[in-house]
Amino acid sequence: MKSRTYAIIMLILWLLVFCSNLISIYKTNLLKKKNEILIQDNERLELDLSAKENEFYELSLELKTTEKALADVANKLEKAEEDNKEILHFDYVGTFDCTAYCCEKYAHICGTGSGKTASGAPVTPDVSVAVGDLEMFPYGTIIYIEDVGIRVVQDTGSFKPNKIDVAVDTHKHAKNWEGQGKHKVWIIEEVK
Ligand SMILES: [Zn+2]
Repeated sequence: MKSRTYAIIMLILWLLVFCSNLISIYKTNLLKKKNEILIQDNERLELDLSAKENEFYELSLELKTTEKALADVANKLEKAEEDNKEILHFDYVGTFDCTAYCCEKYAHICGTGSGKTASGAPVTPDVSVAVGDLEMFPYGTIIYIEDVGIRVVQDTGSFKPNKIDVAVDTHKHAKNWEGQGKHKVWIIEEVK
């Protein structure tokens, strides 16, 4: 009897040790798994970050180019004013039906979301416009849209020749764009 009780106690003790070993193995595995997930997340975040850094670098380069172009124009205007001569010619081309499209980077009604215009230039809010008539407005044409501002023709779409689609930042803005409607349009040319 005594030895049977002893055997049962030993068995219970052994089971306890066995169970606690199992639990600790399970916990270790769980920790390993969590650690792996954390490492993967971290790698993914680092990749995201370097992609964002690249994007930022490209944008800052573009911005510098745009800034330089603007400074050149400002210099020319200043010089022209000094010389008292006209260097820009505004050629009125008619009234155009203006709408807006957004630069959000996913494929939807506004475009493919590639971030590029049909001309290859990056789609830029407050700069790019898409036209229906590329003969009247070849890529690179600078236009003035009354009550909207100065824009650059960089894009096209399958729409009527009397329509201009103006790039804005967000889809929400595109849908509620304040410039929606008919506007007079001029082509701005440099007088050589
Ligand atoms: Zn949109």
